[in-house]
Amino acid sequence: MTDSTNGALQPGGAKDMTLGGPKEMTLGVMGGGQLGRMFVHAAQRMGYFTAVLDPDPVSPAGRVSHHHIQTAYTDPEGLERLAQVSAAITTEFENVPAPALATLAKTRPVAPGAAAVAIAQDRAQEKAHFVKCGVPCAPYAVIETAAQLAAVAGDLLPGILKTARMGYDGKGQVRVRTRAELIAAWDDLKNVACVLEKMLPLQLECSVIVARGAAGDCVNLPVQRNLHRDGILAVTEVYEGNVSPAIAARAVAAAKAIAQELNYVGVLCVEFFVLDESDPAARNLGGLVVNEIAPRPHNSGHYSMDACDVSQFELQVRTLANLPLVQPRQHSPTIMLNLLGDIWPDGDAPPWEAVLALPGAHLHLYGKLKASKGRKMGHLNITGASITQVRATALQAAAILGIAPF
Ligand code: ATP
Ligand code: MG
Repeated sequence: MTDSTNGALQPGGAKDMTLGGPKEMTLGVMGGGQLGRMFVHAAQRMGYFTAVLDPDPVSPAGRVSHHHIQTAYTDPEGLERLAQVSAAITTEFENVPAPALATLAKTRPVAPGAAAVAIAQDRAQEKAHFVKCGVPCAPYAVIETAAQLAAVAGDLLPGILKTARMGYDGKGQVRVRTRAELIAAWDDLKNVACVLEKMLPLQLECSVIVARGAAGDCVNLPVQRNLHRDGILAVTEVYEGNVSPAIAARAVAAAKAIAQELNYVGVLCVEFFVLDESDPAARNLGGLVVNEIAPRPHNSGHYSMDACDVSQFELQVRTLANLPLVQPRQHSPTIMLNLLGDIWPDGDAPPWEAVLALPGAHLHLYGKLKASKGRKMGHLNITGASITQVRATALQAAAILGIAPF
């Protein structure tokens, strides 16, 4: 086991969570990706030491954390070390093994808890949870056996077959029009447990980030309107009126209900579809359906770092350290552009000078050493006085970077 300590005091102060107190207070995070890195930055800004557990020696978060424990996520020694140095522990990716969180929770506060993460890891359990909360989701069927496959109702087609576990950025999904395509797709997915969802006519996609404290207090960021390309988030727009006020209110209420019913502590993102109700396939679904949840900060919440007075990562720190939660306020309309490896042709850096010459451009890069197609390398937040101005600037930035207009 390697624990590279970058000047952190030893050992961790387990109990003392006082802000700015004389003792070391270390917050731990499972996973060293970009979400972990931005959590680490937020925690350090508030005076905490940080510990990251990630096997990758050059993980984005590991490289900026006081402690970087380089072991597998299930390594008992690594977990023990993380618990030893950390006062409380969170996670930055949903596929962190739930048993590892359960192990950590024996000796330290862990937020979100293993049970909530386990539900978010499994589309079948996740959908059952939505049903339990009374929040509509796409009509679906769980397919774990050939008999369940044969029994699938015809009105779920055309649909999308999704692996129940380990999917992200559109991976592990096949669009199927007919029963024959469904059977072939399940074979292609190696007959693993899947969920078949009815293909819905989408008017737009949106998401809501909520932060819930241990006492059940819950705050939210404003509703994000999201554009996906090839199954990956491309653009997030957040401004007054990005979705209708009625839809926004329903989405926020649904997200809070989902968090509450999970007894959730931490930051939770809930993704929604707003349906095109002129299409018969949307009939009886009520216009808004929940898609999925992420038990952590989310790519669609990155705008909050520059457009809100409290970012989603500060909310994560506050929920983890049991600090007060205040309702965040968005102070600027904003558009976020995701910066994928596609805009590093032949590994050459994009023309940042031209982008940074634009008003209200906030560049975030994750310190990843290698760019590849579809890999999230960073994001660009554009803020301004009006959404008209923000959009014009964001389109300029997109043109400079070779990102298709939106
Ligand atoms: P993420 O990276 O958000 O975790 P994911 O791989 O888990 O993505 P989903 O969010 O389930 O995938 O789906 C990816 C995208 O595919 C959605 O954002 C939406 O554009 C489209 N999509 C998914 N399910 C449906 C559906 N039932 N009807 C229409 N479009 C859908
Ligand atoms: Mg999704």
